[in-house]
Amino acid sequence: QALSKILDIKGSIRVFCRIRPNLSKEKRRNYEPVSAESERVRVKFGGTRKEFAFDKVFHQDTTQESVFVELEPILRSAMDGHNVCVFAYGQTGTGKTFTMDGTNEQLGIIPRAIEELFCQASMDASSSFTFSMSMLEVYMGHVRDLLSPRQSCRTHEPLIKCNLNIQTDPKGLVEIEGLSEVQISESAKARWWYNKGKRFRSTSWTNVNQASSRSHCLTRINIFRRGDSSEAKSETSKLWMVDLGGSERLLKTGARGLTLDEGCAINLSLSALADVLAALKRKRCHVPYRNSKLTQLLRDSLGMILLSSLNCKYNQLLRRK
Ligand code: ADP
Ligand code: MG
Repeated sequence: QALSKILDIKGSIRVFCRIRPNLSKEKRRNYEPVSAESERVRVKFGGTRKEFAFDKVFHQDTTQESVFVELEPILRSAMDGHNVCVFAYGQTGTGKTFTMDGTNEQLGIIPRAIEELFCQASMDASSSFTFSMSMLEVYMGHVRDLLSPRQSCRTHEPLIKCNLNIQTDPKGLVEIEGLSEVQISESAKARWWYNKGKRFRSTSWTNVNQASSRSHCLTRINIFRRGDSSEAKSETSKLWMVDLGGSERLLKTGARGLTLDEGCAINLSLSALADVLAALKRKRCHVPYRNSKLTQLLRDSLGMILLSSLNCKYNQLLRRK
């Protein structure tokens, strides 16, 4: 339902679909791959077929690099002083984390973006750039700081700051109270911090996927740009890269207890995100940012791109209902 709502919203928001290849167990079960023709994807809902149109469809053999190439204009836009957001949306197991984070051999969007920002900064002769990074997680309606620099004296585990407050100033700029922001002077250092932050995401088990992510993980790079000529003004912008929690319907995952609560929290915030995007698209005066922590956090940065993932498993689950 949220996907349909999002697909209705086009314009400054671009929606891509990435079809992942069948995993070996799906191949053994002869799962039918999702069919796609040009930028349209066909899925089966019960007995009926439904077609969705995207700005672009990445077929199952699309490399991480080809996906990233499509995002380069977005990075340029962030370097030019605009706030931008990239999301991965989809059911658990559809390849959101693979797309955003990837593996050591097949780097995803976030490590590539970090590399590219430093590369573009070094090539820009007319401005100088500095970057800082924050990572946070929205888990059960709480904001957790994933880059807390403080460690426990006893266990050396990080003391993760939970339940951070989000404030909005009269100009609509968002301030996350107490959130760690580390200065990054080179891409290797940024990758080090990013890998550190990733280790502290909350994970638990459901029937859909082994270690599924039951939270939204947000990586933010702040970009400070100073023009080299005396009259050039300095600019600050944010690049958000978000690995959203799984969008599956709860009945299918066999979730109980805590996992069910986690799933409800995720569904509510995904629905709040869809409502905000719909209101922005329709240029409504009232945009319901306050309905979730996720939309409060992104209030000053929404409006550029939404990357969606969808795959054959989604199709099969719907058909087996
Ligand atoms: P999600 O984060 O949406 O729950 P994952 O990113 O963990 O899903 O992907 C589920 C599994 O599918 C992982 O084993 C991942 O390596 C694999 N996978 C996802 N997308 C691709 C892809 N495009 N090519 C190869 N393997 C993929
Ligand atoms: Mg994931």
